[in-house]
Amino acid sequence: MNYYSTNNVKAKFTFKEAVVHGLAPDGGLYMPELIPPLQKDFIKNLKNYLFEEIAFEIAKGFVDEEINNSDLSDIIKSSINFPAPIHKLSDSTFILELFHGPTLAFKDFGARFMARTMSHFVKDSKDELNILVATSGDTGSAVANGFYNAEGINVYILYPSGKVSESQEKQLTTMGGNITALEINGTFDDCQRIVKEAFVDSELTEKLNLSSANSINISRLLPQSFYYFEAFKQLPPKFEKAVFCVPSGNLGNLTAGLFAKKMGLPIEYFISATNSNSVFTEFINSGRYAPRESIKTFSNAMDVGTPSNLDRIKRLYQNDIEKMRCEIKSSSHSDPDTLSNIKRIYEKHNYILDPHGSVGYLAMEKFSNNSSLNTAKILLETAHHSKFLDVVEQAVNKKLELHPTLRESFSKEKISTQLSNKYSVFKEYLICS
Ligand SMILES: *Cc1c(COP(=O)(O)O)cnc(C)c1O
Repeated sequence: MNYYSTNNVKAKFTFKEAVVHGLAPDGGLYMPELIPPLQKDFIKNLKNYLFEEIAFEIAKGFVDEEINNSDLSDIIKSSINFPAPIHKLSDSTFILELFHGPTLAFKDFGARFMARTMSHFVKDSKDELNILVATSGDTGSAVANGFYNAEGINVYILYPSGKVSESQEKQLTTMGGNITALEINGTFDDCQRIVKEAFVDSELTEKLNLSSANSINISRLLPQSFYYFEAFKQLPPKFEKAVFCVPSGNLGNLTAGLFAKKMGLPIEYFISATNSNSVFTEFINSGRYAPRESIKTFSNAMDVGTPSNLDRIKRLYQNDIEKMRCEIKSSSHSDPDTLSNIKRIYEKHNYILDPHGSVGYLAMEKFSNNSSLNTAKILLETAHHSKFLDVVEQAVNKKLELHPTLRESFSKEKISTQLSNKYSVFKEYLICS
């Protein structure tokens, strides 16, 4: 199967090119020419398959023989090696827990699959691959963890100084080895701009073999469609359809869900939840796209002012905003509401949401009257609450225990290199290091 660039539908690339380059030479995002539909019987009988078998069936269509079945199966078994259970909140409301991976966030699925897929493609080449990744928090730790010790690969993580939580910073600055943490004096959008600039800088790309690991890499997006199927599989049989609510930032998770729908999963519609960085919500509701600087919120992995996957979504709908609106609802929620909702859900259901999940819950509630009785509502809980302990403790007004995984990273020493937000400074650093 061919991949094209969102900037040029006629350009043709292989899956390997899309994975290794991350971003197309013209600066566009790679998109598959076709979202391969799954067999109807397979979807009807999801219950008969293990998570890894579902993942394999989906991945096979996109990889299209560029990786042989046995290698692909190995990549999946070693990357998708933790569960994605659903937790029942009420009769028709479920929480899809995506935080059972090594860094306690959904990004583990994408990062681990991408790292192993890239390693597969570059392992025989003599040039080292340099991965650049901008993070507003969770991406960095998931990527660092996924690529740790990958042969022939160096990872540079750019994060905004003082704008990620203490535990996020610990997770991304304590790996060492082939992982370098760059602390940028600026915002997440600065980090993202620097990375984008690097990829279109031919002077740099001629010297260094560069690739990206943001949610723009197609191999990070694909595995995120696996768990929509896994969630649906676990529903009680009376549910014929599902509505998925997705806490959104760069829209990778939402795009992967749209892929799942195109593959044939019976999804009625999506709810995309944003915090005060409501650029996408405004776009869906008014058709106007007004990208801007991000602002800091409690759900900081969603603090995005220029959602990078929007071009993919526009391609999926051929720019038809009316059609988009039928399948994607969206609403935006403030920090105070996020906080009081964590408390409310804790008191009502004895379940602790993280700030991202809380924004999602509020959006899901807003649209809850729109769906029918045989439709389940599924909220993607994108991170474990322990990653945002200060906010969550403030919300529920009591001390909570730190997750054991985090306790371990807190005991290690932070190592980072501080850089200004100027591209030229970053470029010099990269060339000289
Ligand atoms: C990255 C992230 C999001 C946003 O996901 P996108 O795919 O960028 O829309 C939401 N919640 C958490 C916890 C995240 O880490």
